[in-house]
Amino acid sequence: MSKLIRKALFNENGDIDVLKRKVINGNTTNLNDFNNIKYAWTSKWYRQAMNNFWIPEEINMNQDIKDYRKLTKNEKETYDKILSFLIFLDSLQTANLPNVEEYITANEINLCLTIQAFQEAVHSQSYSYILDSICSPQERMDILYQWKNDEQLKRRNKFIGDLYNEFLENKEDIQLMKTLMANYILEGIYFYSGFMFFYNLARMGKMPGTVQEIRYINRDENTHLWLFKSIIIELQKEEPQLFTDELVMEYKNMLKKGVEEEIEWARYAIGDKIEGLSLKMVEEYICYLGNLRSRSLGFGNLYSFCLEEPKDMEWVNLYSNANIIKTDFFEAKSSAYAKSGALIDDL
Ligand code: ZN
Ligand code: ZN
Repeated sequence: MSKLIRKALFNENGDIDVLKRKVINGNTTNLNDFNNIKYAWTSKWYRQAMNNFWIPEEINMNQDIKDYRKLTKNEKETYDKILSFLIFLDSLQTANLPNVEEYITANEINLCLTIQAFQEAVHSQSYSYILDSICSPQERMDILYQWKNDEQLKRRNKFIGDLYNEFLENKEDIQLMKTLMANYILEGIYFYSGFMFFYNLARMGKMPGTVQEIRYINRDENTHLWLFKSIIIELQKEEPQLFTDELVMEYKNMLKKGVEEEIEWARYAIGDKIEGLSLKMVEEYICYLGNLRSRSLGFGNLYSFCLEEPKDMEWVNLYSNANIIKTDFFEAKSSAYAKSGALIDDL
């Protein structure tokens, strides 16, 4: 374990030679130069992220205003809880990414992280727009601060927040790697199972405006997952001491813990009370996501079961797949921003 060097904002003695560039502990000048990049994938990533630009208010919420009042009691409770949790996650992401950036010494990766932070802020604003459209001011406050009265949600948020807080206290390379893993788990497991609940509402013909917002958010989160996966894979090459068998086991245990946390949350927030979803479907889907995320980092499966996408959850992909985002689920106006071609997506 070694201390990370916090980079200077301007370093006149920094390395100009791209071959000397490193993801962490490099000697960077901090100058942004897009003509000389070491990590070629950042260029594709940047283009994709820029093409994904979207504006939350361009999505029409009229149907949702009516539907929200017609949701069953269980659907409404779950809608509120999951939205409250997503609001927390996106707020935390917006606040934490600059902390990670302080220790990343490849300027092209920092540029991507800055765009990600911007997108997380747009996501937060989209939730405010949804709430402003469908709720009274009092209901809006109740959803935003639901963790104040919901012990389970508070415990959950605290668990996730504490993982990030540890890096603020302890600036070691392993702690940064754990923060990157926590980020990857948040982006790749917590968000996705939340999105799935909204897609199920869409299957039932409810809350189409919320679902469109979520689909745009999902498309961005896909790229965030791609970004963190790429950073971790570069670190595997540059900093092998962070990937000993013992440490990889620790990262896999973090993933497992993430899966367990998400399943516990699903039992509480979704349960067996939502039309179109059974707890078994949701649990298998979360385990499948855990395996998928672990395999993407080259860590192998987490479990010997749920290796394939569960058949009864194939519909999730209809909504979440960025490559079919320009279907008639989206208003023609919004798709003007969806200039991007097929997303490079092997997540
Ligand atoms: Zn987000
Ligand atoms: Zn994100």
